[in-house]
Amino acid sequence: PAQESAGHVVILPTPGMGHLIPLIELAKKLVHSHRFTVTFIIPTKRGSPTKVQELVLASLPPSISYVFLPPASFEDLPEGTRIETIISLIVSRSLQAFREAMAAIARNHRLVSLVVDLFGTEAFQVAREFNVSRYIFFSSNASLLSVFFQMSALDRGVSCEYMDLLKKVKIPGCIPFLNEELLAPLQSRGNEGCRGILYHAKRYTSAEGVMVNSFEALEGEAVRDLREKRREGMPPVYVVGPLVKMDQPAAAAEREECLKWLDKQPRGSVLYVSFGSGGTLSSEQITELALGLEMSEQRFLWVVRRPSEKAESFYFKVHGQDDAFFDFLPEGFLERTKGRGFVLPSWAPQAQVLAHEGTGGFLTHCGWNSILESVVNGVPMITWPLYAEQSMNAVLLAEGIQVALRPKVTEDRMIDRKEVAAAAKGLMEGEEWKNMRHRMRGLKEAAYEAVSEGGASTTAIAEVALKWNTQ
Ligand code: UDP
Repeated sequence: PAQESAGHVVILPTPGMGHLIPLIELAKKLVHSHRFTVTFIIPTKRGSPTKVQELVLASLPPSISYVFLPPASFEDLPEGTRIETIISLIVSRSLQAFREAMAAIARNHRLVSLVVDLFGTEAFQVAREFNVSRYIFFSSNASLLSVFFQMSALDRGVSCEYMDLLKKVKIPGCIPFLNEELLAPLQSRGNEGCRGILYHAKRYTSAEGVMVNSFEALEGEAVRDLREKRREGMPPVYVVGPLVKMDQPAAAAEREECLKWLDKQPRGSVLYVSFGSGGTLSSEQITELALGLEMSEQRFLWVVRRPSEKAESFYFKVHGQDDAFFDFLPEGFLERTKGRGFVLPSWAPQAQVLAHEGTGGFLTHCGWNSILESVVNGVPMITWPLYAEQSMNAVLLAEGIQVALRPKVTEDRMIDRKEVAAAAKGLMEGEEWKNMRHRMRGLKEAAYEAVSEGGASTTAIAEVALKWNTQ
């Protein structure tokens, strides 16, 4: 007979594949190692799943289910409202529907905990009504969590821009950042985005625990600091990473074209180029990137999206194969790079691409999940941050753990074709490649160690599970 569930966990992911994907990995651990059952209650802007959400949710094990909440209304918001603001509002405007969904689950299950991601603490008021634990899963890194934990104190104590202060006062575990590298909304205190982040950061005191998707070998100082020193008023931190898809068996017949193409490339020869689930480039930048890849003479697999002036314009869409026309690429580019390059629209089976033997490098927008996926596969990177905390991540990779090349950005925020070509060649063939590969191998081993039986991250999740079981 099936074993009785240890209790039911509700997970509320805010919009963004970078939130949903690692939360699914967390849910699998809770189900497989700790006998919980899980429901994802998913607030939306449109009321129905995107194609990519469907794709990701289709492969859930039976103990994990999901429901979509009705769409929250956004007609009153001005054009150009920041992503972080919309994400927060989706949660606050969906609370009544969320409450009803919780009530429906509570009729058949013993609820033990609500887990939200970094922008979901608004839902904790509902957790209190149902008397269940309140946990945050922080899907970015320990350094940023450190910044979140100290923002309130900073805000109380100073009147200058945070960065003027951060240059002098070291945030534990963080390597020094320049203002333009800080989490985008924090670069200027007055803006709505910055106030929003501060609001969320303050609310972290209402969580009973925070899980962070990192591990010690990757962010030693920040991880140790968060784990060992309790900040005043802040909940305990559990370092549970890397939670990423590590095994992706795909039946031969279902293998996507790009994987079949990769099968035919020499080992470690392909540079994978992708800007995450939401990133887009301007038309001019796409041209420079294309011509740079061509000049580099390297093999590449590129997830290409239609150009847009706003770097995050794909964030709420992520439809799938809608952009199958590449008429915006430089003339003759596809013919000239045929055989050596493979372009695909919108979305790639990234975990499988990075795990593939043919892949030797990753030009990435530095989303935290992409970085973790690269690390668990030992693939060195080229950094190309676009928005959110991606510039901080780029600094960590290039200067902190030194597993990435960081191309120069011009004053008008462009990376020109020569710089692209030099980075691609340097990463795939240069001397530095060997050293980065070597460091990456060490990180990969440490990653597997952390999530193995008895590893630090496995133990941290077990501690959380024990708390939920014994409350
Ligand atoms: N992803 C994917 N195919 C794509 C783009 C993204 O599978 O074409 C996945 C990727 O593997 C990662 C997530 O979507 O798990 C993106 O998260 P990340 O934190 O890297 O960036 P974000 O999309 O949140 O900016």
